Parts: sequence; C-alpha cells; structure tokens
Amino acid sequence: MNISHSGQQVMLAGWVQRIRKLSGMIFIDLRDRYGVTQLVFTEAGNDVLYREAGKLGREFVVRAEGTVCERSSKNAKIATGEIEIAVERLTILNSAVTPPFTIEDETDGGDDLRMKYRYLDLRRNAVRNNLELRHRMAQEIRRYLDGERFLEVETPVLIKSTPEGARDFVVPSRMNPGMFYALPQSPQTFKQLLMVAGFDRYFQIVKCFRDEDLRADRQPEFTQIDCEMSFVTQEDVLRMFEGLIVHLFRAVKGVSLEQPFRRMTFEEAMNSYGSDKPDLRFDMKIHDLTACAQGSGFSAFDGAAYIGAVCAPACASYTRKQLDELTAFVKRPQIGAQGLVYVKFNEDGSVQSSVDKFFATDRLRAWGEVLQARPGDLILVMSGERRKTLIRLGELRLEMGSRCGLRDKNTFAPLWITDFPLLEWDEESKRFHAMHHPFTSPKPEDVPYFESDPGRIRANAYDCVVNGVELGGGSIRIHDEPLQQTMFRTLGFTPEQAEEQFGFLMNAFRYGAPPHGGIAFGFDRLVSMFAGLDSIRDVIAFPKNNAGRDVMIDSPSSIAGEQLKELGIMINGE
Ligand code: ASP
Repeated sequence: MNISHSGQQVMLAGWVQRIRKLSGMIFIDLRDRYGVTQLVFTEAGNDVLYREAGKLGREFVVRAEGTVCERSSKNAKIATGEIEIAVERLTILNSAVTPPFTIEDETDGGDDLRMKYRYLDLRRNAVRNNLELRHRMAQEIRRYLDGERFLEVETPVLIKSTPEGARDFVVPSRMNPGMFYALPQSPQTFKQLLMVAGFDRYFQIVKCFRDEDLRADRQPEFTQIDCEMSFVTQEDVLRMFEGLIVHLFRAVKGVSLEQPFRRMTFEEAMNSYGSDKPDLRFDMKIHDLTACAQGSGFSAFDGAAYIGAVCAPACASYTRKQLDELTAFVKRPQIGAQGLVYVKFNEDGSVQSSVDKFFATDRLRAWGEVLQARPGDLILVMSGERRKTLIRLGELRLEMGSRCGLRDKNTFAPLWITDFPLLEWDEESKRFHAMHHPFTSPKPEDVPYFESDPGRIRANAYDCVVNGVELGGGSIRIHDEPLQQTMFRTLGFTPEQAEEQFGFLMNAFRYGAPPHGGIAFGFDRLVSMFAGLDSIRDVIAFPKNNAGRDVMIDSPSSIAGEQLKELGIMINGE
C-alpha cells in the first residue's frame, strides 16, 4: 500500500508489532507477512474505538478496517511509510501473552530462546526473508530443470542403508520384529534404478539424513537437489548443472557469473590451495619450497618431506603480536601444525625472518622469488608430511584471505573440481574407502590399476565449489555389473556381503542399464550462501541445535514402554 491508495477503504489483518500512545492518539504498527502498516486511532474521532485500541498488547491478532490517509510524519524506511490507516472498525481476533523476546530485526532473544519459540522467531523479518528466498530458489530450480525435461520423482524415506559414508538413522519395524529401516543419506541407488527404468532425466528436492557430528553448515536432516541423467558424459553433466547455478544466480540474485566455470583437478587444488574446495575469490597460491629450503641445519625443515609457503600481500608490517596470533592459529588442534616460519619483505627492501640464524638473506630472497613476493609482503612457511602440510597451509591461506579482506560476500568465484581419487586409504581399518561412493566410475584408462595400485585410480567425479564452499558433487556411475563387483571387492566386500547389501542394484544392471551420471547440490548451503549467512540454520524453518535436538518440540525423546515392547526393543540398563 502506498500514497496512491489514499482515500481507499481497506481491511488489514495481522499482529500488533508496536504501540505508541500520545495524548488523544494511539498508533499501532500492524505486521503481516508482507510488512508493517501504521494504524491510527484518535480519541476525538471515535472514542469507543480509541478505548478498544488502548486494550491492545504486543502480538495481539487484530483485523482493522479503515481509510488510507497520508501521514504527517513520514517514514522513508518502510514501503508503507507515507501512509497510515484511519481505523473505523477494529476486531480483536486473539490476545497474546508477552513474547519471550522482542519480535524485531535486532531481537534481544538469545539462540536457545529463539529456537524454543521458533514460530515467534519466524515472525521476524530476517528469518522470514530467508524462507522466502528459499521458496524462490526452489521455484527457480524447478523452472530450470522442468525446462530441461527433468522429471521430479519422489523416492522412499524408509529404506535400507545407502553407503554415503556417514552413520545411518534407523527406524525399527513393528511388522518385522528385530528389523530396521534406514533413512536415506541420499536417494543414490533409487535414482540409479530410475535410470535403469528409463527415466532419463530425474530430479528431486529431497530430505536426506546423516547421523554425523554437527557443525554450522550441517544438520542431521538436510535438503538436496538430487539429479541424475542417462546417456551422458561428465561434460554433459557439468554443462547442464553449471547452467542451473548460473540460472539461479541470475534469476534470484541478479548476478551474472562468468562462463564456463573454471576447472581444476583435485591434484592441482590440493597442491595449490591445500583444499579440494578452494576459495578462488583470491589467489595466494601455495608454493613448494622443499627444494630451496633444506640443508641449512634448521631441523624442522631438513627432516621434512615437504615445505610450502603462502605470500600474504602487504602484511610485512605485522607486529610480533599478530605473528604470534598466526602461530597460535596454526597450532590449534583442528589444524595441528608444530609452528610457523615467517619472512618479512619490508617496504625498505630489508628482509627479516624468524629463521635468520639459519638462512642468509640471499636464500630468503630466493624464496621470495618463488612466491613472487613484493616489498611489503609477508611469507608464511610450514613444513612436514606433504598432504597434511598442504591442508594446514590451505587453512592459513583462508585465514590470511579473511584478514586481508579478500573474501567479500558479494563476490562469487565458482569452479568445478574434477579427477578426484576413486579410493581413499584408511589407516585405521587398513582398507580402501570410496572417496565419493561405491557407485562412482573410474576413469577407463585407470581401470588396470585395480590390480596393481588402486590408490592411483582417478574417478569420473566432480564437485561444484563456490567461495570455498562445496555446493554439490556427483559422478558418472558404474553401469555394468562386473566393474561394480570389482569395486565392491576392492572396498573389501565379500561377494556375499555385496549381494546382501546391493544385490538389487547389481541385479538391475543385468537388465540393460544405460550409462548414467548425476549430481546432488546441498540446497540449504546454496540458500545460506545466497542469503549471505555462514550457518544453514537460519534458512531452515525448524532446525535442530548442535546437539541434534529440536528444543521446540523437545525431540528426540523417550517413548512409552508399551511402544518399545511392541517394537521388541529393550533399552540397555532398564
Ligand atoms: N548421492 C551423492 C551425495 O549425496 C550425490 C551424487 O553422487 O549424485 O553426495
């Protein structure tokens, strides 16, 4: 509603956001899903109504009818700021007790309180806006995929375990005592079966469940945009879903992303950025100093398999305190480095380092050349086992990127990571695990390594990464039974175990399985990135807390003895 509606009769219904009483006048801010409108009651105009309005409290639900009038004191901050409603009829539809926190943009409610009363939190603009954004994105996803002839098919929620690598949530079956369903970690095997069934383009915006330790960007139940296609190569899949991401950014955010997206192999990402999801909003590549930093009697370097460094622009002015902070940062248990060496390339041309005792200035300058350091730059060096050191340098690189203000939330740097290893060696269990999942196909030229060196096999697997966040990942699948058997064998399954767990899929492959591949995007992460948030919680209507609890409905909770008996379940110690 705006000034052009002046003089019109309107009816509004909503919640009382704010009440201001002046002498002879009451102003009410009435809030509904679409915004806030000011209602005005005057004692001189209608004293019965005026007294009625005086009874209103915060969050009362009312209906008001009246005339749109121009306001005397305008509020440019809101869409209805030039008008108010001179109320002629007021109906109090419901009263409300005082809410436990203020329902304002800047609320006084802490996290726990807001989660317990999530339905009140959802009345706040910020949270409602996130859900509106989520809705719009879901519509655009459907629009794009429907336009590309994808069919939305629902798959079951009570299934058998899908080996995505996390723990399953399980559900006891009353009708089959002692047996359990698992909730899907993803619809992976079902979408593959749909391909066997001839549905050549499938998608689903679908809930998935993983029993993992929680972090800001993880919830025990989350939503995927799950997709699969038949008769495609990796190139076809990348192009199709690059299209989806580009469409979403354009339609929802008005941002046009440069195409084609950058491509980088897993190997290159690890070597240059210490991560398989590099944040490419800034460069600051990791450089290898192993060859030029050994043999000086500095024991941390001389015994190291790998020495690497990053160059932070314009950070040579870092103080002792700042450098100590960085050392503490890399020594945190999550990162686990032993220490950090620095070299300052001062503006005045001098060079200063924490290893001056071991390295002459000339040698330090040679490092500077490798890293293309300029006067004013700071080089940070770490050493140790190769892969671990790269990952630590990757973390340090992100930290320096943040400190240097190079990670702007409104800049987007998308890329595809390709050529992931098919298998990962697990020291603990002394066997190979599938890096993606067991249905991912190897590169044909690497198949011979199944016999000689399985760790070398590269997969037809890919991830879509934006700003250091893995938004989605997928692969071209194995579609013939013998290769799938080889894969299961390499993963340590006996033929009986493979049959017991995945017999249905291998059997399906005997009936004419088309070549196929797909991808799944994390919908919550995508929405939170669009909303400029770090956590996915505020883009989910009813999220769980870090302990996996829904504190509003108080779940999980115990169930009645009778229910347990029916399920044939006994709780330990009871
Ligand atoms: N099911 C896979 C996942 O959830 C995605 C895929 O391979 O399509 O990671």
